[in-house]
Amino acid sequence: MAIYELTCPSGHRHEIIQSFTAPLPPCPACGAPTSKVPSTFGFAGSAKLPPPPEAMPQTWRGTYHGDREYVTELRRTAEARRRLEEANPELVGDRRPILAHEGRYEQRPLRAGDPVPAGFRRIAPHGHSHARGCRGGPAPGPAEDR
Ligand SMILES: [Zn+2]
Repeated sequence: MAIYELTCPSGHRHEIIQSFTAPLPPCPACGAPTSKVPSTFGFAGSAKLPPPPEAMPQTWRGTYHGDREYVTELRRTAEARRRLEEANPELVGDRRPILAHEGRYEQRPLRAGDPVPAGFRRIAPHGHSHARGCRGGPAPGPAEDR
């Protein structure tokens, strides 16, 4: 038995568990013939690296308001990354809490312990530090940041 991801000509995707030789079932959404999708994280050497946690969506909006298929894929990706890091501890890298990851920090998140750049305090004026888990993102900055 194995898990296959199937796709149809209309692009519907679903997973099945069946034996290697069993015929593929038609698409449950539209009834069209299906084909197997090559597994993204299938076998060592053929898989691309799952992204590290800081590259995953950090906000509800980043998951398209919780779209089920997308969230499932995210979980699968996170799980694949976790297993990869278990086997390859050198990939774990920097796990300090991220203080800012938007705007100017999108490419290189500002982490706890990093030197605070001049002006950083001015873009988070709402009374608590982001280290306490604010999910709202930075409040609107001063005029020169617009
Ligand atoms: Zn279909």
